[in-house]
Amino acid sequence: MHNMTRILLLGKDGQLGWELQRSLAAIGSVTALGRSEADLSQPSTLAALVAKHAPQVIVNAAAYTAVDAAESDAHTAHSVNALAPAALAQCAASSGALLVHYSTDYVFSGDGQVPWIESDATAPLNVYGASKLAGEQAIQASACHHLIFRTSWVYAARGGNFAKTMLRLAQERDTLSVVSDQHGAPTGADWLADMSAHAITQTLHTPSKSGLYHAAASGETSWHGYASFVVQEAHQLGYPIKASTLHPVGSMAFPNPAQRPSNSRLSTQTLRHAFGVQCPPWQHGVARMLAEISP
Ligand code: NDP
Repeated sequence: MHNMTRILLLGKDGQLGWELQRSLAAIGSVTALGRSEADLSQPSTLAALVAKHAPQVIVNAAAYTAVDAAESDAHTAHSVNALAPAALAQCAASSGALLVHYSTDYVFSGDGQVPWIESDATAPLNVYGASKLAGEQAIQASACHHLIFRTSWVYAARGGNFAKTMLRLAQERDTLSVVSDQHGAPTGADWLADMSAHAITQTLHTPSKSGLYHAAASGETSWHGYASFVVQEAHQLGYPIKASTLHPVGSMAFPNPAQRPSNSRLSTQTLRHAFGVQCPPWQHGVARMLAEISP
């Protein structure tokens, strides 16, 4: 029996966690834990849990992702998104494990139209973004080996996401209004998970690849452009689509508790150069997901 890399995956039931169960199985022996086995709102419990499994790689796919709810639940968001990653980073720093973590385009202000690079100044607009930024900073300050992937607009065949909501609404309503003044790239959890496995293997071999990377599909669109693509593809796949008109509207049309950045574009040049990976056009993965869940 080969000396398989021991991988501890937290957040196994989320969109990304589910895909990571599959991708990580190709590169090591995976222990996958959900919320009932590893509760990130209780950061002080994590050290004993990690010690018990003695992983060489800790992959954290758990997060408090309810962006609007976070505005009135900052304490929990901070525990899950900042204090728990900080605790995991301490474990990784003392054991020499590699910590893999995910962050978000919401760490940025959203100003301008140029894709953000890793070294750009952060200025989160909402509690969720601030909590995710604090998580990144704690990991970096711990000096553990780490991979932090900032991603955007995540979707998967399994779990809830914007594409699936639009798919449902387009079958219920004649017209839809969709925000057209926020720009980014829908990113498939399947691609993100496969890319992560690839990067983990390389970083275990070459620890100097440790660091922060932007990881998203290529191209860009707005939520309106994304919804329009979903409806058009779904129609071709034979979904009973009712909506014939998608109205582009400004963010002001949907007053939410949390403000969102208008520029969520992420430059993936650093990631592609460091790991030799491709970032496929966002449409490819969305079309594939729709086909996968088609009736
Ligand atoms: P999901 O919301 O699909 O999954 C998050 C998982 O974390 C869920 O299984 C959730 O469990 C779990 N979780 C929440 N609270 C706790 C807790 N206290 N203890 C343990 N587990 C908990 O998110 P994604 O898979 O889409 O996101 C993966 C990563 O990507 C996250 O770091 C996120 O911040 C980041 N990201 C996501 C984006 C998106 O659009 N979704 C955009 C940019 C970045 P439960 O289902 O029980 O709540």
